[in-house]
Amino acid sequence: MKYPTEKLKELALEAGFTAAGELSMDALVFLPEVRQMCSADKCGAYGKNWRCPPACGSLEEITARVAQYSYGMLVQTTGKMEDEFDGETIAATGKAHAESFRRLMREVKKSYPDALGMGAGTCDRCKTCTYPDQPCRYPDDSYSSMEAYGLWVSRVCELSQLPYNYGPCTITFTSCFLLK
Ligand code: SF4
Repeated sequence: MKYPTEKLKELALEAGFTAAGELSMDALVFLPEVRQMCSADKCGAYGKNWRCPPACGSLEEITARVAQYSYGMLVQTTGKMEDEFDGETIAATGKAHAESFRRLMREVKKSYPDALGMGAGTCDRCKTCTYPDQPCRYPDDSYSSMEAYGLWVSRVCELSQLPYNYGPCTITFTSCFLLK
């Protein structure tokens, strides 16, 4: 069964996202510049997590992986901050987004076991990632970020005609998933 995008949007909103929209497949351009930002390791996860580079695959491998998919959805969670230094809301919105994403992907995978999800930020399902000594604890229930795949998220949103920024004192996390 192929879900129409309206049904997928409905599932996304039910899972807790504040917005969802069809992903433009033309926007899936995997940029070495974005991967270079990963390798600068400002987040401290480069080479320390199965879902981050280099473990999540080279740009060539990612391009080949994604070429198998024909359509997809962007999903977002926006939080309203008290001011621009409201780190508590940023953290809470990020956590809610990650939980909604896992919830949605579990639902989507009931009909599409090979759906490909790309989340937001480093996978933090485990207190300490098993990388590189042991296999990932949740290989079917954990996700690389859009950035880890080399995507420029604001550009992907723009090309998909979905806002990336919802205005002053808001914080938005964006993820996506692909279907065949
Ligand atoms: S699920 Fe755990 S082991 Fe797997 S990538 Fe995430 S943090 Fe690492």
